[in-house]
Amino acid sequence: MKRADLFGMDRAALVQAAATLGEPAYRGDQLYSWLYRKRARSFEAMTDLGKGLRGRLAESYRIRWLDVAERGESADGTLKYLFQLDGGGSVEAVYIPEARRRTICLSTQAGCPLKCAFCLTGVSGYKRNLTLREILGQVATVMEDAPKQERAWNVVVMGMGEPLLNYDATLGALRILMDPEGFAIAPRKLTLSTVGILPALEKLMREPVRPNLAISLHAPNAALRRKLMPIEAKYPLADVLAAARRYEIPRGGMVTYEYVLLRGVNDTPTHARELAKLLKGSRGKVNLIPLNPAPEIPFEAPTPAAVDAFCAILAAAQVTVSVRQPRGQDILAACGQLHLKREAAPALAAAAP
Ligand code: SAH
Repeated sequence: MKRADLFGMDRAALVQAAATLGEPAYRGDQLYSWLYRKRARSFEAMTDLGKGLRGRLAESYRIRWLDVAERGESADGTLKYLFQLDGGGSVEAVYIPEARRRTICLSTQAGCPLKCAFCLTGVSGYKRNLTLREILGQVATVMEDAPKQERAWNVVVMGMGEPLLNYDATLGALRILMDPEGFAIAPRKLTLSTVGILPALEKLMREPVRPNLAISLHAPNAALRRKLMPIEAKYPLADVLAAARRYEIPRGGMVTYEYVLLRGVNDTPTHARELAKLLKGSRGKVNLIPLNPAPEIPFEAPTPAAVDAFCAILAAAQVTVSVRQPRGQDILAACGQLHLKREAAPALAAAAP
């Protein structure tokens, strides 16, 4: 009989799994703690469960994170993981060490259906939603492999895919990540990035425990945004902004507006002034992201002078603004570069340990 995946089950499912083995509910809580707090990789490790129970668990279930197909290390310490998925396809996660913290960037879909004009994920097409196990498995793998340090973990849902098009698995994973009895990551250390899938964003607002919110804006008006992001036709800029303004960030933080700068397309002083006007009165901060160019993308990176000028205009208009530094560029781990040429290079996956 095929064994079911225990890692990836939420607390209710684990209690249920315990019940089917004739065990009381608190066994489900013990399993939850072993899987997500202590991150045990075998039933033998679960020492407060009797030997008999451990044996019966191993007969019906297995504990699987994700299969690492490739691991790339950048000169700046950034690590990129390529995971092989059941049934074909692959996704990536990135580990980014910084001075006082470290960040995991994770994926929620294999490919992406949104096809933003400047993003490489859309180029290779859309395969499927990731499961809760596949999302949490990325975090578990990266955390275990990372250098042992005291620096606090941050998790950003900014890898491949649109998290709000995979709501249940993404939120299921976030709940376990934010649970003090799970991965115990503080909600303010977790950021979900979205283009603004409105019905799902409304749902997210009603979650009792919410992550930080980053909105992919990329243009100061609907006409330009529509050229860059086809989703604008369905969920217009004005409505996305209105929803984002109502989003309550953990501990009174601010919504982040991501803005990829594309040379000559959305990076002029006129665009900057229009963006400042658009965001006037909304308690948000802008994160400017100089494009990471690629041959498959029909745009160029902004000049450093254009980035500076854009940033200065926003700052002068009292908009909180930062510029994202590219990390892991030499291993194609930078924003928007994930999954590059993957499908064309199956030999690399075959060479995995
Ligand atoms: N679908 C969600 C989550 C993916 S993260 C979203 O769009 O927000 C996507 C982020 O990656 C975008 O906000 C953008 O900041 C960044 N990005 C995508 N392609 C990029 C590129 N070529 N260069 C720089 N950043 C890019």
